[in-house]
Amino acid sequence: MLPVIFDEEYLLKYAKEQKIQPFRVKQIFYELFKNQNIDWDSMTTLSKDMRQDFSDNFNIINLSLDKKLEDEQTTKFSFKTFDWYFIEAVLMYHRSKHTKWKLNRITLCLSSQVGCPMWCAFCVTAKMWLKRNLTRQEIISQVLYVNNYIKNKFWKKEDGTLRAVRNVVFMWMWEPLLNYDNLKKTIEILLQRERFSLSKRHITISTVWVIAGIKKLIQDKIDVWLAVSLHAPTQSLRETIVPNAKVHKMSELIKVLDNYIKTTNNRIFYEYIMIKWVTDGDDNAKNLVKLLKWQFCHVNLIPYNENPLVDFQETSTKEIQNFKKILEDGGLTVTIRDSMGREVKSACWQLGYDSINKL
Ligand code: SF4
Repeated sequence: MLPVIFDEEYLLKYAKEQKIQPFRVKQIFYELFKNQNIDWDSMTTLSKDMRQDFSDNFNIINLSLDKKLEDEQTTKFSFKTFDWYFIEAVLMYHRSKHTKWKLNRITLCLSSQVGCPMWCAFCVTAKMWLKRNLTRQEIISQVLYVNNYIKNKFWKKEDGTLRAVRNVVFMWMWEPLLNYDNLKKTIEILLQRERFSLSKRHITISTVWVIAGIKKLIQDKIDVWLAVSLHAPTQSLRETIVPNAKVHKMSELIKVLDNYIKTTNNRIFYEYIMIKWVTDGDDNAKNLVKLLKWQFCHVNLIPYNENPLVDFQETSTKEIQNFKKILEDGGLTVTIRDSMGREVKSACWQLGYDSINKL
C-alpha cells in the first residue's frame, strides 16, 4: 500500500531523496489543507510531471467512499478501509433562526476505531465489536475527504473563504481514548495553523469514561473540551446499560474529572441519554443533581434515537422537559440536544446500522 501524501515523515524523506525543493512540499500541504483538494488533477499549483510523480508514489487519502446518505441536517459517509472494514463519519449542518436559517457552522463527528468494545446496551455500534484502531492517517483522511465534499457542496462563505469543518467531535465510532496516541497526534494536526487551523475550543473528545485516558490528557495538557457519556446517575443503573462501567467506579471517575477541571479550567460536558422507563424519571433526575451539583459542568440531555436493532424507546418530550426542570432547580445548567440525522441513521447510537445490515 502506498503511503499517504500528508504523512510528513514519508513526504520529507521522499523529497530529500528526489531533491524536490521544500517549497513544493509546502505547496502540496496548501493544496490539501487550504484549497481542500483531494485529487491530483485539481492541484494545479504543481506541474503536471510532479503530479504524475507523486501519484505514482503516494495516495492522497487512504479511505474510499462506500456510501453517502443525507437529509436536511446531516450527511453520513460510510468509508471503506484498505482491509475492507467500514467506518462512518457524519457532518452536521447548524442553522439557527437568529441567522434566518442560514448555514452557521459545520460539525464533523468522526470515527477513531472500527466498531467499539464498550457494549452499551442501547447502541448499534456495540454490535459490531471492536475490529481495530484506526491509524492517524485514516482519521485525518476523514477530515480531508469531508472538507473537499463541503467545498463542492457549499463553495465559499460571504467573506470569500472556503467553507470547511469548524468543529470536530471524536465520537463515532468510539472509543477515542482507547486509541490515545493516534488521537493525540490527530489533535496536533487539527490545531496546526498550516494544516486545519482549528481552535481548541472547537474540538471535543467524547468518552464513555476511560479513566487512564483522561489521566493522560491531564498529563499531556490536552485541554480541548471533554464530553463524558454518563447516561445514569448511579453506579448500579449505569452498569446495566453500560456494562463496561463495572471496570471504573463512578467515584473514581468524578475524582479524576475534578482533577481535569482543576488543571484545565474547562467545564465537563456530561451526555445523558433519555430512555423511557430506564434513565428518565424524577428519582434519576434528583440523583443526578446530587452527583453533579458541586462540579463545574454542563449536562446535555439527549433523546434516545430508536432503531430496529435495539429494544429501547425514547422518553417523551414532556418527560424530558420535566427532567430538565428538576436538574435546573437543583442548580445544574442543562441543554436538551436536538436529534439530527435520525432518518439516515446518522444520529447518536445509530452508527454502524448500515454495516451490520450488510453482513
Ligand atoms: S455508545 Fe459509544 S461507547 Fe457505547 S458502544 Fe456505542 S459507540 Fe461504544
